[in-house]
Amino acid sequence: MRTEFKNEAFVNFKEERNHELYEQALKKAEAELGKEYPLIIGGERITTDRTALSINPANHSQVIGIVSQADAQLAEKAIQVAAATFETWKRTDPNERARYLYRAAAILRRRKHEFSAIMTFEAGKTRVEADVETAEAIDFLEFYAREMQRLSLPQPLTASAEEENELYYIPLGVGIVIPPWNFPLAIMAGMTTAALVTGNTVVLKPASTTPVIAAKFMALLEEVGLPPGVVNYLPGPGGEVGDYLVDHPLTRFISFTGSRDVGLRINERAAKANPGQKWIKRVVAEMGGKDAIVVDSEADLDLAADMITMSAFGFSGQKCSACSRAIIHEDVYDTVLERVVERASQLKMTNPAHADANLGPVIDEKAYNKILEYIEIGKQEGRLVLGGSTGDSNGYFIEPTIFADVAADARISQEEIFGPVVAFTKAASFDEAIQIANGTDYGLTGAVISRNGANLEKARREYHVGNLYFNRKCTGALVGTHPFGGFNMSGTDSKAGGRDYLLLFTQGKLVSDRF
Ligand code: GLU
Repeated sequence: MRTEFKNEAFVNFKEERNHELYEQALKKAEAELGKEYPLIIGGERITTDRTALSINPANHSQVIGIVSQADAQLAEKAIQVAAATFETWKRTDPNERARYLYRAAAILRRRKHEFSAIMTFEAGKTRVEADVETAEAIDFLEFYAREMQRLSLPQPLTASAEEENELYYIPLGVGIVIPPWNFPLAIMAGMTTAALVTGNTVVLKPASTTPVIAAKFMALLEEVGLPPGVVNYLPGPGGEVGDYLVDHPLTRFISFTGSRDVGLRINERAAKANPGQKWIKRVVAEMGGKDAIVVDSEADLDLAADMITMSAFGFSGQKCSACSRAIIHEDVYDTVLERVVERASQLKMTNPAHADANLGPVIDEKAYNKILEYIEIGKQEGRLVLGGSTGDSNGYFIEPTIFADVAADARISQEEIFGPVVAFTKAASFDEAIQIANGTDYGLTGAVISRNGANLEKARREYHVGNLYFNRKCTGALVGTHPFGGFNMSGTDSKAGGRDYLLLFTQGKLVSDRF
């Protein structure tokens, strides 16, 4: 019997010893930098002429890996291999499928820092952020393995005297998994293993900025003995390879986490039945947010300032759960603003490999330019009270940036920036604050800082987000504890790390046997 699921503990970086271990891991990862990463299709390694570089966002001149790039022909091959492998994998005992995940989780736990250190180099994650992410990856493996075992048990049905009825959750087929770069291990591993543990086979197209950590995870799946072809590693350009995979008639579902634009494009393309296609493709999409923290007039204002600072600037705001709007009751607005400015100005923006870093770079040049454009827009729409500038030019560093007195309908209040930028908006009442919070196309996360129970009850009813938090930050959902996913343009209402999640990758087959 497995023990009950519990969240993986985080490493305590207050202990010097853990820094030493992390530094050893960084050294080891550094020695591997610049390696070549081939595609992996059906266990076969394929090196292509066309390659792309994964680089360190904190130090442009450092190459993390040289990654082979698929084209349409190789995408075809990957789909064919996944489709052929599905014929055997779908018949594999669900407990066996779960065991691959348990084994992978055990190794990941033993070699935590090794995985985290790669993310420090490739994604610009500080030690704490990388460690939290590796813990989340372990959680996804442990949780989905148990969930599959639960779903494979006899399912409750109304009893019938003359029939034996059974409901089975059977897999769908070939899935395309397109994960994001911002949680390049945890979300990538969660999406991939949810699909495979339920009996599907996968073509994994890693994010173009973080393919190396995905390759490392592929190696882990191979190490635990996952049969070749169950997951196929296929980096390649989105337009060419992504579209080909999504459009393919053998593709049964697409699991995507990323921007709204790409999510909508996938949804639209997937809706079209192409010649030879026998099903309606399923799209599971997690697409972003414009998340707000609402601060009531009756609230712990230090707590409010701490939570806004953490939620807005953790991983430089590059989370779809990040706080990009602070909506503050007018009675406490000036105080909260002042305290957030105070805290945010203490953040140390430096290379995330350093022990004391708490603000790293943004992921790449495109993100860097986009965020800087939004900062220019913000200067027209609000009062810049902190940041706005860039840091060390070897990396894509942007200061924690705060705009005050921003209108609820301003562009920086409505559009996802995905960077260390937060807009403060004043509300005349708690009701108005909730109304402003709900006033975007998104509905992913939100938080309310209040001591007023009636107002919290109102928010519980009226604040329309998938993950609503009271008196805490709006980031940092834990697997099993805070099933994660939101409403409206934030996605398809899927709840990663929740008990409904695996059902998205299965179909229910009822067998009724009359005797
Ligand atoms: N699950 C993460 C959190 O709660 C955010 C995931 C994302 O940014 O995609 O902070």
